[in-house]
This record gives sequence, C-alpha cells and structure tokens, in this order.
Amino acid sequence: MTEKITAVKGMNDILPPDSHLWEWLEACVRDLMHSYAYQNIRTPIVEPSALFIRGLGEVTDIVEKEMYSFEDRLNGEQLTLRPEATAGVVRAAIQHNLLYEGPRRLYYTGPMFRHERPQRGRYRQFHQMGAEALGFAGPQLDAELILMAHGLWLSLGLEGIELELNSLGQPPERQQHRQALVAYFEAHREALDEDSQRRLLTNPLRILDTKNPQMQSLVNAAPRLIDFLGADSMAHFETVQAVLQANGVAYRLNPRLVRGMDYYNLTVFEFVTDQLGSQGTICGGGRYDYLIEQLGGKPAPAVGWAFGVERVLELIKAQNLAKASAVPDVYAVVPQMAHMPLAMKTLTQLRSLGLKVQMHSPGQTPMGGDASSQAPQAAWMALGSMKAQLKKADACLAPFALIFGEQEVLEGVVTLKALRDGVGSQRKMPLDDVASWGKALQCELLAAVV
Ligand code: ATP
Ligand code: MG
Repeated sequence: MTEKITAVKGMNDILPPDSHLWEWLEACVRDLMHSYAYQNIRTPIVEPSALFIRGLGEVTDIVEKEMYSFEDRLNGEQLTLRPEATAGVVRAAIQHNLLYEGPRRLYYTGPMFRHERPQRGRYRQFHQMGAEALGFAGPQLDAELILMAHGLWLSLGLEGIELELNSLGQPPERQQHRQALVAYFEAHREALDEDSQRRLLTNPLRILDTKNPQMQSLVNAAPRLIDFLGADSMAHFETVQAVLQANGVAYRLNPRLVRGMDYYNLTVFEFVTDQLGSQGTICGGGRYDYLIEQLGGKPAPAVGWAFGVERVLELIKAQNLAKASAVPDVYAVVPQMAHMPLAMKTLTQLRSLGLKVQMHSPGQTPMGGDASSQAPQAAWMALGSMKAQLKKADACLAPFALIFGEQEVLEGVVTLKALRDGVGSQRKMPLDDVASWGKALQCELLAAVV
C-alpha cells in the first residue's frame, strides 16, 4: 500500500461537526464587528520577513524562535508565514493609504503560524480573530475594543473570563523605567536565567514576560512601569478605566502585564481564564501608537486586539455551550431514481425559502474489492428502500422527512412526515404550491425552536 501522508505536526484539520462550531463563532464575531461598524480586511498569509522583524521587535519570542521563515527559491526573497496579523494590517493600511480619508476600524480572521511546542491550546497553525482601530488616539477607542471583546464573551455565554489591564506609558517614561529595571536586574544577575541575561542587554522589559516559574518572584518585585507614568499617560489610563466601570466591566490591574510584542504603548490588556490549564490567555491587545510610523507610514495612533479561536472554542466546549448544530430541517426520502429530478427541483425551491434540506443518497463508502467489482450503474441506481432512507432521516435528527414515493408523485403531492414530537403530524403537500407550505413550515420550525 502507498504510504499515507499526514498533516504537519501542530497543524490541525478542522472537521465536521467541529467546523460547524467554527462557523457559528465566526458568524457571532462578524455580527459583533458589524454592530460596532468595524470593516473586514484580508491580508496575505505570507509577508516579507522584515515586516515582522521591524514590527514585532527583534528581541521577542516570536521573532527570535517562533517564525516560519524561508527563502523564496525563485527570487531569493526572505518571507515569513504571518505569526500575527497586526503588522500585516498596518502594512496594508500604509500601502493603500487607508487613513487618507480619516481613521479606520478594521477586523480580520485567519490562520497564524508560530513554531512552538504543540500542546493543549498551543498549535503551530492556529487562528485569530482580531480588531484594529487605526488613526484614533482617544482612550475611548481602547475602551470600545475592550467592551467589544467583553460583549463577545457575554453573547457566547462564557463565564470565568477575567480582564487584566496595564499601561505601558510612553517611550520617555519607559526609558526611565528601563534604567531602574536594568539596575534592579543587574543587582540580581545571579538569579536571571540565560534568556534573561541576554535580554538584560537588549530588551530588559521582555524579562517581565518570562514564562520561567523560577523567575516569578524576582519579576514580581521589579520596579513597576506604572510608577513612572506622567500625568497625560495616567489620564489616558484613567479614562479607559472610567468607561469600563460605567459599563460594569470588572478588571484587575496587573503592573507586570507587558505583552509579547515590542510595539505596544499606553493601554495593554489580556482576557484570561483558569479553565484551560497553562494556556489561559484567550485574548490580548493594546495600543500601538508608533507602529505605523515604524513601518514607514505617516505617524498615526492605533489600538487593537486578537483572540485565539482554538482557545475560545475549547472554553465553549468546556462550559457545554456548544449549542450550534448542523441538523437539517428536512431530510428528503426518494426511493426511485425516476423521481429524482422532480424531488431535486422541489428541494431547491425549499432551500430558496431558507430551509436547510438534506437529500438522501446512499454513500459508496471506501471502495473495497466488492464495490468496484459491481457494475457502476447498478451501484448508483439503487437508492435504498423507503425504510432504510427513513432510518437515515431519523439518525440525522432532522425534524421532518419529505417523502417522494411512487403514490405521492402520481397524486402530485409529497408526504411531510414529522420525525420528532412537537412538530406537527403527517400531511400531504401539493407539489405545485411549494412556496406557500414551505413558508408555513419554516414558521412552524422557528416557533418550535422558541
Ligand atoms: P501565549 O502567552 O499563550 O503564548 P501570546 O501572548 O503569544 O500568547 P498573542 O500574540 O497575544 O499571544 O496572540 C493573541 C492570542 O492568540 C492569544 O491570547 C492566544 O489566545 C492565541 N494564541 C497565541 N499563540 C497561540 C498558539 N500557538 N496556539 C493557539 N493559540 C495561540
Ligand atoms: Mg506566545
């Protein structure tokens, strides 16, 4: 037998019925984004490596060890599979002059790539949905974005998600803090791990982002950036908090929250949960007022967030909130091939009225010697008995079967058979008036759900 090819480690296929849950979440997020007037943007998955090196910062986990970078064999370009989408969105905004007519509210969704150790909630291809507000300086935008994410958890019915908040201030404030931080860590050099010793010289703030448990107490006692903020930065931060308070959004100030990329300033935040083991951060974001300029655009402020789709879906499953399903409204039973054209015409009419309709068809499951030795006609002509088809209809949990039997077709009708309790009785429906009973059927289904 030919050897099987499997997916790359840490990169997952998303299969039904899971994929239905994905679509449901995507639809919820799309509605949310539209309700806040955010517009969709789609950027390439591959970008020049320089975009991330310059955008995210050379001394970050992502750029140092997580990027899928390669040289284009044909022209020698240095390329990278995007590890996140903010840099690409900003590149696109600059390239297409998107801020020419004023600020923009944008959102995106799609796969990201990081070469990490695969484990629960951490994959090499994972998915983010994110929002970016480009060209806005006011703290009300930071707050708007946090309210959006908070609203999403509420609308999904999720519980046990906490908001952590910090302000990283402005570059001069960070500079002062940096000096204090370097002095502190130098005084405790012996307690630093290898990564942190190196970062002490290149990017000491990153030491605060360490995942090494042995360094936590050292990091906890380090000088706090928040104590170095001036009046403007504090006023910005306080306004964000005032909006959250007015909206009843609980948060916890976390002075050690720094986030994984260098581009942040002022507000940073994360939504975390203790229900997903060590991969407990489901959403992260903040303000990045200098990134647009750093990537070659006219200086403009910005703020955004992204959440991890896999982690949110895992939480939805953990809390038994996965209520979406792919069950059809109607399962069509067609025992004879001769009636197929008429049946399919009717099903198309029902679908155009908004009903979910599944047509019966026997599957030729993985071909063994037996199946291939049969004449192909014989295989596809046999649709299965009425009884066998009704069994399938029942198994797929559809509330109704629609039976196109010999007798029915002769009479110019179709039998609508209720398969569950509470969805009416068996009746015959005229084939020349599908529109009117189809609409009534849909109303009935909607009423049954409520
Ligand atoms: P972590 O601290 O867990 O590595 P991060 O700070 O690197 O997260 P961000 O870059 O802020 O994550 O990305 C935003 C969100 O994307 C995270 O909060 C998380 O939900 C999700 N995410 C990040 N990396 C992965 C991954 N490798 N697999 C699955 N989801 C991820
Ligand atoms: Mg990470």
